[in-house]
Amino acid sequence: MGQSGKETADVIVIGSGIGGLTTAALLQERGFSTLVFEKNRFPGGSCSSFSRQGYTFDAGASVFYGFSDDDRSGTLNLHTRIFRKLGIQVETIPDPVQIHFHLPGGFNIPACYSRDAFIDRLVSRFPHEAQGIRKFYDELEDVYRILSSLPAGSLEDIVHLGEVGLHHPLMTVSLAMKTFRSMGRTARKFISDRELLSFIDMEAYSWALQDAVSTPLVNAGICLADRHHGGINYPVGGSGAIPSALCRGIEKFGGRVRFQAEVSSVIIENGIARGVRLSDGSEHFARAVVSNATIWDTFERLVGDPRFSVPKNRFLCSPSWFQLYLGVDASVIPAEFFVHHILVDDWKSYSSPGGTIYFSAPSILDPSLAPQGKHTIHAFVTAEAEEWDRFSRGSDAYREAKDALAASVISRTERILPGLSKAVELKVLASPLTHERYLNRYKGSYGPLLKPGQNILQKPQNSTPVGNLYLAGDSTFPGQGVIAVTYSGVSCASYIARKLGKPLDYLG
Ligand SMILES: Cc1cc2nc3c(=O)[nH]c(=O)nc-3n(C[C@H](O)[C@H](O)[C@H](O)COP(=O)(O)OP(=O)(O)OC[C@H]3O[C@@H](n4cnc5c(N)ncnc54)[C@H](O)[C@@H]3O)c2cc1C
Repeated sequence: MGQSGKETADVIVIGSGIGGLTTAALLQERGFSTLVFEKNRFPGGSCSSFSRQGYTFDAGASVFYGFSDDDRSGTLNLHTRIFRKLGIQVETIPDPVQIHFHLPGGFNIPACYSRDAFIDRLVSRFPHEAQGIRKFYDELEDVYRILSSLPAGSLEDIVHLGEVGLHHPLMTVSLAMKTFRSMGRTARKFISDRELLSFIDMEAYSWALQDAVSTPLVNAGICLADRHHGGINYPVGGSGAIPSALCRGIEKFGGRVRFQAEVSSVIIENGIARGVRLSDGSEHFARAVVSNATIWDTFERLVGDPRFSVPKNRFLCSPSWFQLYLGVDASVIPAEFFVHHILVDDWKSYSSPGGTIYFSAPSILDPSLAPQGKHTIHAFVTAEAEEWDRFSRGSDAYREAKDALAASVISRTERILPGLSKAVELKVLASPLTHERYLNRYKGSYGPLLKPGQNILQKPQNSTPVGNLYLAGDSTFPGQGVIAVTYSGVSCASYIARKLGKPLDYLG
């Protein structure tokens, strides 16, 4: 049916980010009819790929967890389990290092797949903290051990909670006790060296965009322990291979994904979501509506009823990004260079806009992403939308501001890649305005962050104050990151399936 015609489904999903697609795929496989509306011509949102002049770039995410094909590493290999359920193959390449950190004072450390190698390197830099290092990373290991032995489900689903509690009583109690703990406070119990604590802040900041004290221990247990178990694996063809495979899974079971279909509002009658209205005016109806947009975009734009506005002080709004997508001559990348890097010049400003440089060169793992003799580089720094709002797109001033910031990021990156500025053959730049416009994300934000003192259970779950309207994606528990939003999609699908009377099986 064309986009202007009325379509119905059991579940309509607004947005084809990984959270939305995961929800749709699992529900569709279970026998519910699903319909995904995506404003762009491609799926994946912050986990999509785009191509220019023979280069394929990851629009956002490049470091992927959850692809271990060894189920003995636990239940956190969600991508493997979901694709197995869908009967879809996604080929991946193992990455020996999560991130190579280049820190002030000549402190460099690769977070290797081998946990022993990583701990040994840390201990050799901080021998006086050997015991504290082991105790802290053992705590993360403990969280990982608990989480990876529990099946994924919704914390709002009483039946799921009951089953988990019944079959894993000790793990459940232990996890409940750790839920309220912070990564940074746990580190401070064992470690006092300031440089080491700064590194642990950076470990948190690398994905959470907050220091370790503001980061829940539970989140840290997933990312910083799973890198040594399931490991980091890169999808062949780039990040867009993941949403493409989820779309194939949805369509394989009869679901529909409509591109260039922007939802302008959720149709709500008497406090109950009945469907969605697209920007072409067409209306589509469902028993449940899932928004994969951010919590602010969902309630301020798509719901638009002041009774459901998100209180301004409920969360912190994380910054956005300034991003460089570079095609470079391969000779600038030395042999044995790792794929993912983080550069910090100064501990005082690492969390200020532009303070930390994130860098990935995924064509090192997958040469198909770049023409022969070339590499793709994705480098990015945090940036505030407010700083860029004064520019009109297409203006000289906007172009000059982007070029100036890009030149500074490239020049700072030359400390790990001498000659980079001369090796650049293609340069695509994206400001917070780009991020906001392409993905409909409020202020181009990375998403809501917990305020100091809040715990992870204060993140929104999938249900909302509007009946039959649900959220999936990085505004919801557990938060940002592709594996996290995948969890949110599993949780959302499980909760809806239970509500609609046909519960999902656990991911085997
Ligand atoms: C620069 C950057 C680097 C990152 N690096 C990593 C990394 O290395 N590893 C990692 O795990 N995570 C990383 N992340 C985070 C991760 O990519 C995100 O947390 C995750 O992909 C967000 O998924 P989501 O489901 O919340 O939806 P999003 O990715 O936000 O997608 C939402 C989708 O909904 C669509 N949409 C929104 N509104 C509408 C509407 N009204 N109508 C129709 N469609 C709509 C959008 O177009 C978009 O496609 C990174 C993010 C960024 C920005």
